[in-house]
Amino acid sequence: MSLSRRDFFKYAGSAGAGVAMGTATLDLKPVAAAGTALKLKEAKVHPGVCPYCAVGCIQLIYSKGDKIIDIEGHPDTPHTLGRLCPKGAATIQLSNNPLRPTKPMYRAPGSDKWEEKPIEWMYEQIAKRYYDTREKYFIEREKDKDGKDVVVNRLEAIASLGSACIDNEECYLLTKLNRTLGIVYHEHQARV
Ligand code: SF4
Repeated sequence: MSLSRRDFFKYAGSAGAGVAMGTATLDLKPVAAAGTALKLKEAKVHPGVCPYCAVGCIQLIYSKGDKIIDIEGHPDTPHTLGRLCPKGAATIQLSNNPLRPTKPMYRAPGSDKWEEKPIEWMYEQIAKRYYDTREKYFIEREKDKDGKDVVVNRLEAIASLGSACIDNEECYLLTKLNRTLGIVYHEHQARV
């Protein structure tokens, strides 16, 4: 079939109008909302807090059986009104992720292999290494600039790096623990 210039503009115009009409009449929001509602139907909902940072956005965690099926922002979160940043919106991948290690793994100094260890063994190791390091490197007294012997009670062989996830009270406890042990290198990753 040959197409004249006039026919081309006629068909192109009506096709364009069809597309415009399609977008004007086809509102996909209710369809998406119905799809979400269907997915969450009969799911249990648990409130939680996004684990990634100290902004502390509240989440609604939906589960069916023993599986998390969806995580969304909680609209009651006063500072976000239910929105999550891209990291928070992806938290479902922390649970539904075949690559995620679910058991404590240990790599010995100098080794290139990870070994599975019981969590109690991990706690014991941490406590033992803290203890041994403090016993070995604790500085009780030191000379001041005038050569006078003074008490310093300082431990320079351990550094502590806090977490952006921990709240005020947890930061307070961590600070107390570090200062009690004499740790002076006491830092926080968010630098706030
Ligand atoms: S959703 Fe984003 S901003 Fe909110 S707590 Fe999680 S990581 Fe922080």
